[in-house]
Amino acid sequence: MKFDIITIFPKIFGSYFDESIIKRARKNDLIDIKIHNLRDYTYDKHRTVDDTPYGGGPGMILKIEPIYKAVQNILDIQNVQSKKNTTRTISTIRTTRTILFSAKGKKYSQADARRLSKYKNLILICGRYEGVDERVAKHIADEEISIGDYVLTGGEIPAMILVDSITRLLPGVLGNIESLAEESFSKKIPNTKYQIPNTCLEYPQYTRPEEFQNWKVPSVLLSGNHKKINEWRSEKIRAKKKNV
Ligand code: SAM
Repeated sequence: MKFDIITIFPKIFGSYFDESIIKRARKNDLIDIKIHNLRDYTYDKHRTVDDTPYGGGPGMILKIEPIYKAVQNILDIQNVQSKKNTTRTISTIRTTRTILFSAKGKKYSQADARRLSKYKNLILICGRYEGVDERVAKHIADEEISIGDYVLTGGEIPAMILVDSITRLLPGVLGNIESLAEESFSKKIPNTKYQIPNTCLEYPQYTRPEEFQNWKVPSVLLSGNHKKINEWRSEKIRAKKKNV
């Protein structure tokens, strides 16, 4: 899977994408991440990416032209790489999904991560300042995603969240498939032996030592009785759901 990220702060991504699972997935060619500096797609000598809002109001708005040019350039490169003769345009592309980050977008969930993990290419547009010219949402992006009901200074952290949550779902990325089967928001994987019920939240987990500061690991987990352990875990999941 290829992620193309459009941003005016390309350096933000360096350290996060160069550690741990994401780093390994890149090294093993399971994912490819390309960061595009929006300023490289400007026309003027000041490399202007923003302008004042029509109708007045505070702050600056990211302009549509550089974003259009960046997305079109990414699609053109994909076109060459896939060696197709037909010209793929913003509206016709099917294996690619273009996403604009926006606080007013649809709230991101694990179901979206699973859905988006089926695409070959994701183009992620990071807003800044007061936001992005609305025509980007209307004519360039396939969808607008919010990562929660709060306002961040930019779309770069949302982009990292998408890359992270999607990458760990891709075949071969996690060493242990059980990790996916049993974690929060996961459904039971069909045709496997994993019997954790379709549920929203993971059960509580413990590791050594058995006792710390007089705080003990629940004795059922030490019993070796897997039927009882599964019952205990299901009960904990049910109890947790009641509290949500
Ligand atoms: N004026 C905008 C508003 O009131 O919704 C906020 C703009 S915000 C300071 C700048 C950029 O950060 C946005 O264009 C978007 O790309 C990103 N952003 C901020 N909060 C976000 C969220 N909750 N989810 C996704 N992206 C967000």
